[in-house]
Amino acid sequence: MDGQSWTWIATICLPVFAVHLVAVALNKAIQSYSRSRLEELTEARGRPARAEEIDRLDVRTGRAAEALGFMTGLFLATAAGLVLDRQQTLTDDVLTVLAIAALGVGGYLSAGVVGRHYAESILDRLWPATGFVRLAGLPLNAAEVAARYRRRFWLAHNLSRPRLLVPYLIVLLGSNFVVTGAGRIGWAIIQCSMIYLILSYTTHRRLQPWCPWCRGGDGGREHTPSDPLPDDRRQLV
Ligand SMILES: [Zn+2]
Repeated sequence: MDGQSWTWIATICLPVFAVHLVAVALNKAIQSYSRSRLEELTEARGRPARAEEIDRLDVRTGRAAEALGFMTGLFLATAAGLVLDRQQTLTDDVLTVLAIAALGVGGYLSAGVVGRHYAESILDRLWPATGFVRLAGLPLNAAEVAARYRRRFWLAHNLSRPRLLVPYLIVLLGSNFVVTGAGRIGWAIIQCSMIYLILSYTTHRRLQPWCPWCRGGDGGREHTPSDPLPDDRRQLV
């Protein structure tokens, strides 16, 4: 690859990678912080009200941070695919794969460890900036919005099953090897399906308290989801 491409990739990917790491650390911090330690810390730093606010909004912030981490992660994976596509030799390919894997896995693990070890401090320091993370969070009429997204919820639940995920990944990766004109159109359609998939996961993450599959198991025809935000710490499927 030439220098210009590298500059382009670094300009776009480095900030996204940074946001990704912050989102991972924030999510880990929310999962592992202790309320009493946070109270001590915020009191020592002269803002005792913050512990209360964090406690009130932690589930919602964690949900939003996870969605952000997921989206940035997928973006980076796509960018990594583009970089690999441009390598000239097999050695370049292997070296690039190793570099990307080391950076990606290393960054992800370190962000998780930092998030867990310094959970209270990270939450306190990052809190003023988490408003924008939650902006992508819940709409006011969440229950109504959720009712329109049954298909996305279904997809978010079912595509994670190996029976569907493996064939999908094979088609997705395999489509990169077609070179004919009509094949390229198929490739474009398949790549676009990724966007819908990303949307489905993000929607599910945001509106999980209203997902019929998370609540009842079968698509929840019998119950009516209620509007108040449940204190739900279940993980995304
Ligand atoms: Zn669900």
